[in-house]
Amino acid sequence: MYIPFLSIQGRTIRKFNALTIAKKSTCGRAKCGCVIAKDGQIIGVGFNSPPKNLASQKRCFSDKSSYDKKVTDKTCCIHAEQRAIIDALKKNPSKMLGSRLYLIRLDTEEKLTIAKEPYCTICSKFALEVGISEFVLYQKEGICVYDTEEYNDLSYRYRES
Ligand SMILES: [Zn+2]
Ligand SMILES: [Zn+2]
Repeated sequence: MYIPFLSIQGRTIRKFNALTIAKKSTCGRAKCGCVIAKDGQIIGVGFNSPPKNLASQKRCFSDKSSYDKKVTDKTCCIHAEQRAIIDALKKNPSKMLGSRLYLIRLDTEEKLTIAKEPYCTICSKFALEVGISEFVLYQKEGICVYDTEEYNDLSYRYRES
């Protein structure tokens, strides 16, 4: 299935299958799918789940307050963005620079739902480091395109409302 993210900033963007990818997620909390594209080509994809999909490493419902404060990343799952970046680095490393990342979040019924304001500094830093130029998220205002540097700044400024 394709999501019709067709018109961004007046340009026609290829359809992509982040929704299908998100359905592979085994995270107990939120299913996300990510596609990285460059020059009309998908160069990497990812969904969130524990490392190597290992059931033994699944801690989706662990009480986050049970971790020491030095454990800064309290999510057990590899994020969809992280997996898509790793995938692109393996398969299309030369196309990473200037690419665009699309992130999709599903609700519990596996329907497309809005992303939240940027807050994941792990992914925002990682995306900036590898040269992804834009983040595309589906927000309540519609399709939002963020410059990756802006996305990183916004993530650090996030406050739960
Ligand atoms: Zn999880
Ligand atoms: Zn993340």
